[in-house]
Amino acid sequence: MASQTGEIVMQSLNTLLENETFLPSLQGERREQAFTSLAAILSTPNKIHKAFLRIAQENGEVVRIPAYRIQHNNAIGAYKGGIRFHESVNEEEVTNLAALMTLKNALHEVPFGGGKGGVSINPRNYTEKELYLICQKYVQYFSDVLGPDKDIPAPDMGTGEREMDWMMSEYKSINPGKPYLGSFTGKSIVCGGSLGRREATGRGVYFSFRYLMHDFLQEQQNWLSGSSNIFAKTALELGNKPLTVAVQGFGNVGSIAALEAYRCSYLQNKVVAVSDRNVTLYNSDGLSIPTLIEYASTHQGELPTSEDALAELGIQAEVMDREAVLYLDTDVLMLAALEDQIHIQNVEQVKARIIVEGANAPVTGEADKLLADKGVIIIPDILANAGGVIVSYFEWLQGRETQFHTEDEIYKLLHDKMQNTMSGILPVYFSDPLPLRQNCYVQAITKLSTILYRQGKLY
Ligand code: NAD
Repeated sequence: MASQTGEIVMQSLNTLLENETFLPSLQGERREQAFTSLAAILSTPNKIHKAFLRIAQENGEVVRIPAYRIQHNNAIGAYKGGIRFHESVNEEEVTNLAALMTLKNALHEVPFGGGKGGVSINPRNYTEKELYLICQKYVQYFSDVLGPDKDIPAPDMGTGEREMDWMMSEYKSINPGKPYLGSFTGKSIVCGGSLGRREATGRGVYFSFRYLMHDFLQEQQNWLSGSSNIFAKTALELGNKPLTVAVQGFGNVGSIAALEAYRCSYLQNKVVAVSDRNVTLYNSDGLSIPTLIEYASTHQGELPTSEDALAELGIQAEVMDREAVLYLDTDVLMLAALEDQIHIQNVEQVKARIIVEGANAPVTGEADKLLADKGVIIIPDILANAGGVIVSYFEWLQGRETQFHTEDEIYKLLHDKMQNTMSGILPVYFSDPLPLRQNCYVQAITKLSTILYRQGKLY
């Protein structure tokens, strides 16, 4: 398990061990034994599946590509988690992400367990036909362990609805006559996907921020004003002014979170910077996010990299290097690219007072502590980026019933679910000195361990 996740899990378990209202029937030696079991269950996956996908490339070369499906825990429901196509994919990374999925689903009361998949490739180096073969082989190699009631993958970095359609189709061929719509989520609408799924993670990321900085703040302004909590002070300081926003990553999650911030009528945001693998674009007067999304949609998902290309779009912006987005003087920084973006070496340069984690684990444990000491509000991955898995759950349900919701209904369901989680957690966060991430972990582990205990698994 990632050192940060592992550390917070252990801290959360210690907090719960001391809390006498948590599983009060467990006392003395029996209590210690149960907590030892819990630590072991949370820190190790149930199953690790690894394969080398053998692919004949179009140039005649045959390659073997490492691929993983890791099933962390299924106490709450079938394993669930995305499949990532990225050159950094390795067993440890996928295992960490699978554990995070277990806790994310527990936190938001999504009736799934945690899993994750990955293929160690840079998808840009493969043709469409080769990517199709990789998807087909992935399902062939792991077909025994996948299925609507066993393990349900979804898109992650480097994959999208095209890959999910291909994979579902292969699953259907391998399992003729069996239900298949629920085998993969994040599919295209015509192949049984849900309206709103593509945008769900980005929308949820923005909603987590909006809920905290608008809905909750407005409702609880008086209560927060009387609090000496360091995070309440930050929220109040920023709560009554227009906010400048920078977004790292302009893919599925980042571009939608940026668009939501740009369009939001609840808060007066100005999206002053966006970035991707190539560049940061900055304009202190704000950027036209719809124009940039339109551009990216016809340029392999990438932002313009030159002043000429920007001028053609009628956009004025400074072109900076890709890391610059992290250090700009903005109120809010949304991280929607990769892990470990803010770490011990660069944390002092980060000026944002609110950080929203669209990506998984973009802030390392050490950096997290330093930022918390300064009163920086971090809305953590486990809370902020659950929109994808929440709408995946609605997609899975719709596939079972073959009854489909409208887009508005899906967003309402998504916002209700996230609001339900946040309204439970924020009052605790603003009353004690623990960062929001730790509050979320304690809550997720409380739910999961109560279920494990009742299922007789804590022996
Ligand atoms: P994506 O592939 O659509 O986009 C990734 C973006 O990050 C691209 O704009 C890319 O150019 C940029 N990027 C890549 N390397 C970079 C670097 N070194 N510096 C700056 N930018 C870089 O991926 P996505 O689906 O938007 O996922 C982004 C993150 O969100 C990942 O960490 C993923 O695990 C997480 N996430 C995604 C979903 C989902 O539903 N897609 C759900 C939960 C979490």
